[in-house]
Amino acid sequence: MILLQTPAEASTWCQARRDEGLTLALVPTMGALHEGHLRLVERAAAENDCCVASIFVNPLQFNERSDFDAYPRDTERDARMLGERGCDMAFTGSIGDFFPGHDDPATIERLDPGPYAEGLEGAHRPGHFAGVRTIVERLFLTCRPDRAYFGQKDFQQTLVVRDLARTLGFVQIVVCPTVRETNGLAMSSRNARLDAAARAEAAIIFRALDAAREAWRNGERRRGILATVMRDVLAGGTLAVEYAAVRDPENWQADDPADRLERAQALIAARAGSVRLIDNLRLDE
Ligand code: AMP
Repeated sequence: MILLQTPAEASTWCQARRDEGLTLALVPTMGALHEGHLRLVERAAAENDCCVASIFVNPLQFNERSDFDAYPRDTERDARMLGERGCDMAFTGSIGDFFPGHDDPATIERLDPGPYAEGLEGAHRPGHFAGVRTIVERLFLTCRPDRAYFGQKDFQQTLVVRDLARTLGFVQIVVCPTVRETNGLAMSSRNARLDAAARAEAAIIFRALDAAREAWRNGERRRGILATVMRDVLAGGTLAVEYAAVRDPENWQADDPADRLERAQALIAARAGSVRLIDNLRLDE
């Protein structure tokens, strides 16, 4: 596997592969890789001729400077893991490499994140999805992949990115299942900042999602009641809950709490100390 230091070099590398008629997959990451990322890479490598991963801790999508500063970084280790799982090329770069002439992120013009950024993560992390859409567009334009692979773990992000892909018209989005620890905790680079006790505590997020799925299986269809089921579970733990909500994954904007749902996505954001965690589960599958 080759590790390139700038998006300009990556663009040339990808162009050469496309000129050979090869299909190209992109897996965007912020590094500090774990099994969740690596499954995306494995699938991308299996379904395409070439697999490319980006490693860039994107300052545009962090709404808290402390979170950006504390984000784990280890590019050498990441590159090794990517190579072992079938990735052909990984690239990184500075903010000025990704946005020439803009060494200060504050000067970069952000894209409108679109309608799927409304509510939940969008409400709790102002500017986050504008930052995501802006960097993902840049990554797509750099690599021009046939397919790009994203995790279900960041459910609302998959909606924002699908909307972007529709606008661009050349890339297909593939969404892959959330990879979990044995206690149910969704794998995340931020989990590295949890000690053993906090990891055990954090598993309550999955238990709450699972309780909502159980309620759905028992016939409950009211959005408000399903959310209450999750909040009741979370109330038994020590996490600071930001939201525990249920939405129609195919009708994101509808937000009438009295609605009975035909499809349901349960979503939770909560903090274990200073570490912010998110997770979600489709209830009707
Ligand atoms: P990140 O490095 O956190 O920006 O994540 C890069 C990609 O990996 C995103 O598409 C995430 O949704 C995906 N991802 C992160 N954690 C997981 C996980 N536990 N299971 C599946 N995909 C994940």
